Amino acid sequence: MSSDQPSFATVAKAAARIRGQVLATPLVPLAALSDTLGQELHGKPEYLQPTGSFKLRGAANALLSLPPQARAAGVVCASTGNHGRAVAYMARRLGLPCTVCLSELVPENKRQGVAAQGAKVRRHGRSQDEAEVEARRLAREEGLALIPPFDHPAVIAGQGTIGLEIVEARPDLARVLVPLSGGGLIAGVALAIKARCPRAQVIGITMQSGAAMQASLAAGHPVEVEEQASLADSLGGGIGLDNRYSFALVRDLVDQVLLVSEDAIAEALRRLYRQEQIVCEGAAAVGLAALLSGQLPAVEGATVLLLSGRNIDMEQHRRLMADDAREAA
Ligand SMILES: *Cc1c(COP(=O)(O)O)cnc(C)c1O
Repeated sequence: MSSDQPSFATVAKAAARIRGQVLATPLVPLAALSDTLGQELHGKPEYLQPTGSFKLRGAANALLSLPPQARAAGVVCASTGNHGRAVAYMARRLGLPCTVCLSELVPENKRQGVAAQGAKVRRHGRSQDEAEVEARRLAREEGLALIPPFDHPAVIAGQGTIGLEIVEARPDLARVLVPLSGGGLIAGVALAIKARCPRAQVIGITMQSGAAMQASLAAGHPVEVEEQASLADSLGGGIGLDNRYSFALVRDLVDQVLLVSEDAIAEALRRLYRQEQIVCEGAAAVGLAALLSGQLPAVEGATVLLLSGRNIDMEQHRRLMADDAREAA
């Protein structure tokens, strides 16, 4: 095991490091959905972060952990959108140059979110994995500090601060439903929750189309899957064949991984909007999608839905809500 391995201690250190840079979010009761589904549901509204997603936590911890000489030339990352926006936001706060590589699958609203933070945006490749190759090349050739979106100790520890806040608010928690892609989020959250509430279940949820972590867990090692368009666009991309941290943490700490259909994600987005007046992006709705599709039996005690981001194209959101009106008519 390498010495920089993420642990409960690195999560606790991250919490101290990023305090004041990110929002400590509350747990909010989802009263209407709790009534409908007959169980106690709470939301962890990470979409309230200033960049619209939890990714700010890992980005803040990673940038604040860089030694001064590594910061000087600036930072680079590849992203499905939210990580890039978070890195760009923190780089601007720290006065560092920033380049973000986005594949052609990244929606335009997410490109704008990155560009609005003053970062240089490079469109490269047809998948997150191809954008990653370009980010690595820039890091190598231009001496930029590479900030990976999930497979990095400081990023995982930063995301883990969400788990700390959850166990502080609800030490009697029954389970937490976590959107899953590369696994940085759930790995960090699981480190905190399994240390403090070992009986609480940590469940990862992702979309059926292109579920890289699920396929890798089944194979016993990281495998490649083809990236496909999804309502949960923030969950796109592989876990890296050279994965060093997140795969093993997910394998060892996560209780269960579930897959949800595009229809279930759309329905979950509608329910969040109609019953809770919450606008969020597809990736954030996968936990509710799993509940709605009957994949998770009700439990005693509190279920926390990690509402990971809200950076959806508002025109797309409007269309999804209008589909519902047609069905209802
Ligand atoms: C990145 C992201 C995720 C998944 O995080 P991983 O660390 O890649 O598993 C979930 N939801 C949103 C909104 C994201 O931006």
